[in-house]
Amino acid sequence: MSTGDGGIRGEIVRVARLLRTRGLAVGTSGNVGARFDDGQIAITPATMDYDEMTPDDIVVVAADGSPSEGRHRPSSELRIHLEVFAARPDVMAIVHTHSPFATTWATTRRDLPAVHYVMALLVAPGRDTVRVAPYATFGTAELARNAIATLADDHAVLLANHGAVAVAGSLQSALGRAERVEELAMLAWRAQQIGGATLLTAAELDDARLQMARFPRHRGPST
Ligand SMILES: [Zn+2]
Repeated sequence: MSTGDGGIRGEIVRVARLLRTRGLAVGTSGNVGARFDDGQIAITPATMDYDEMTPDDIVVVAADGSPSEGRHRPSSELRIHLEVFAARPDVMAIVHTHSPFATTWATTRRDLPAVHYVMALLVAPGRDTVRVAPYATFGTAELARNAIATLADDHAVLLANHGAVAVAGSLQSALGRAERVEELAMLAWRAQQIGGATLLTAAELDDARLQMARFPRHRGPST
């Protein structure tokens, strides 16, 4: 994403609003960030209603978090974005939510299991769960460190008693992955009501990933 593309701020606003219309956000919870090609980071401002937000409200900071542009304070979870962008050159967009089912699951502090093959979109080859980062107070460097340490090379991570983080090469893909995390948590929760799911293995997820590459229509978020 290039700095000269004023469209990124507009895209962040669009995705932030979709968080609410798609049931992934209540009030001002969650945040959306993207990285420009020059390394600067754009992120939603702290405590602003998504419906009132305009592209001019999006905050831009340097890769180290120092203030650059914008008339607002950045989201309180800016540190998570900084840590993830610093550690993952492949990640260009981050969506953090307190979506209901994913957050409910995160309160159990159990990894989210592979109840459905869409898990293949969320984890690195060889893995079969979305893992839960240890609890730390919101907005702290400790939480940001826990989040990136647990995310590793996956595309999603749960934050204990807090929410979820989805990462991708584009804002649209990051939004799609945030929706998949919520979908999986909902399915896992429902399966528990009827005795629990039979889980897919990492090898079965690897097969699903290969099949998604052969059938792009079913691929979902690709980057
Ligand atoms: Zn949060």
